[in-house]
Amino acid sequence: MMKRRQLLKQMSALPLIGGLFATTEVTAAVWPGPVTRRDYYKELGLRTFINAAGTYTSLTGCLMRESAIDAYNYATRQYVALDELQDKVGARLAELIGCEAATVTAGAASAITLGTAGVLSGMDSEKASRIPTDLSGMKTEVIMQKSHVIGYAHAIKNCGVKVIEIETRKELEKAINDQTAMLWFLNANNFKGKIQYKEFVEVGKKYNIPMMIDAAADVPPVENLWKYTDMGFDLACFSGGKGLRGPQSCGLLLGRKDLIAAARLSAPPRGDTVGRGMKVNKEEILAMLMAVENYLTRDHESDWKLWESQIKLIADAAATVDGVETEIHVPDIANHVPSLRIRWDNKKVKMTPNEARQALRNGHPSIETVGGDESIDITTWMMNPGEERIVASSIQKILSKKS
Ligand SMILES: *Cc1c(COP(=O)(O)O)cnc(C)c1O
Repeated sequence: MMKRRQLLKQMSALPLIGGLFATTEVTAAVWPGPVTRRDYYKELGLRTFINAAGTYTSLTGCLMRESAIDAYNYATRQYVALDELQDKVGARLAELIGCEAATVTAGAASAITLGTAGVLSGMDSEKASRIPTDLSGMKTEVIMQKSHVIGYAHAIKNCGVKVIEIETRKELEKAINDQTAMLWFLNANNFKGKIQYKEFVEVGKKYNIPMMIDAAADVPPVENLWKYTDMGFDLACFSGGKGLRGPQSCGLLLGRKDLIAAARLSAPPRGDTVGRGMKVNKEEILAMLMAVENYLTRDHESDWKLWESQIKLIADAAATVDGVETEIHVPDIANHVPSLRIRWDNKKVKMTPNEARQALRNGHPSIETVGGDESIDITTWMMNPGEERIVASSIQKILSKKS
């Protein structure tokens, strides 16, 4: 851990070399880069919007940080060998984050698939080439808690393994056999499961079975980047295009050196593999590294204060409407940021939350929020600075019109 901290200290002490280490910076929309004369989205007739929802793939996730955009553009100009780039970037990421090894993947989902493939194949390319259709000579089962089974577990099934669901520690120990390849943990559901980190890691260590954690949406806080590998998980998967504000189609696979090397046997440029369709280009790989550098050196406290003040501004505006109730909360894990829930008495405001969300979407500018039939849910961490004022006044206007 010393290494990482020293490095970060050095980095933040450096002058702002080309802006790469800037701790505060403007976002993509106001980036003073080369001005593009064409408005591509407009030409295509596409709606753009203020993202008051959060990091949703369907809404194209996040806007990259300036340092990531700069790295992306830089990388377009010259060739490098893909494996050499992954070697160097992986080593640098591992040093920065403070884990044994790292590699850039095509999203957290890809990190899960490649990591699983690595666990199955080890350093045997011939085995890797048989995933997912012929697992002979490889282990075939991955165990997880019932409450941790969500759609993203599909990324494990891509490797052709069977998912074994258990609930208690006793069931877990009973399910482990000589076909058990890996234990999988969904960080977001830690509190929903009967087995939490400590016990889970204990069991994995006891039986010497690799453990993977899906922590895709789990920065902030920044410490989570090293928390789970420090805790004893062999592999940790993060999204690059959520809180890290790197390319939307990137992710990080962090953890044991031997397993990361094995995972890369299933990653491009190698063609006869389960991961061949998970290509990450040089631009994205370099942008991902710079997004992580930026994230590690940011002033997280001031980011947090900004989000809090934005959320409060929107909450206060909504609460001026008679019958409207607001609740500010921070989810414990997964999208751990100030969040706002707006509800109302529909005798006083005569529209449903879904109708209000549709009205926000239809507005100018268009605003995307989440929530169901009960509430409008808002976060501000994916917005451009200043947009919170537009969101606040639009919500106030829409709700008061029906009150
Ligand atoms: C977002 C998410 C994923 C997928 O991440 P990508 O980076 O989009 O591939 C996987 N698991 C969880 C829990 C997530 O929230």
